[in-house]
Amino acid sequence: MPDIFDKKTRSYIMSQVHSTGSKAERAVFNWLQKKGYKFTTHSKNLPGKPDVVLADRKTVIFVHGCFWHHHRNCPASELPQSNRDYWLRKIKKNSIRDKRNAARLRRMGWHVFTVWECQVNRNVDKAMRRIEKRLYQSNVCHEI
Ligand SMILES: [Zn+2]
Repeated sequence: MPDIFDKKTRSYIMSQVHSTGSKAERAVFNWLQKKGYKFTTHSKNLPGKPDVVLADRKTVIFVHGCFWHHHRNCPASELPQSNRDYWLRKIKKNSIRDKRNAARLRRMGWHVFTVWECQVNRNVDKAMRRIEKRLYQSNVCHEI
């Protein structure tokens, strides 16, 4: 099947795909492990398949790739110049789905946190300590 994208766009897409998730996720998993948290990953039983589930704290953490989940004002979330409408629609759909999943989880009584790939890559300790601090507050505000 011919590729609907030109070479440049395709390589851009692939670079974004590969930078999404995996590396930042691993950093988050390692951090939690070192701290002795008990967690599971990529839970298929919960809306949005949260990357991290801390079941005993009723908390989930999404490690979001800045591009696919549109991290506002983040350079990594910039759309490619070609096929802009296609990307706009796709990314918008993703963020609507993210919000819907988070709302569902909250209705089920979960605390929902999001940590962004660029924050993790910059300083995983800082990014995770922000969430950790919230874990211990009784009146958890869910937005990060
Ligand atoms: Zn970002």
